[in-house]
Amino acid sequence: MSNHTLPCSTCSKTVVLADVRYYTADQQHVFCDAECSHKWFQENEMVPKVIATLSRKEKKKLKKLANKQIRRAGKDDGRKETE
Ligand SMILES: [Zn+2]
Repeated sequence: MSNHTLPCSTCSKTVVLADVRYYTADQQHVFCDAECSHKWFQENEMVPKVIATLSRKEKKKLKKLANKQIRRAGKDDGRKETE
């Protein structure tokens, strides 16, 4: 067991490495929760890599967050999505 910690790469909250569930494929960045990891990966355009390491439930959660942000971005754009 190790008590090593790292700050969340998004909000700087302390994350215990032994408990961390969200991190980059190279493990250079850790995140305290799904939202922080999602934010970071969106900014860094690395979503497919992290998703490969997540469980189905976690992927679903991230997908939901992503859809929410996409919808919000669409609104800010002032454009209507048409099919
Ligand atoms: Zn965080």
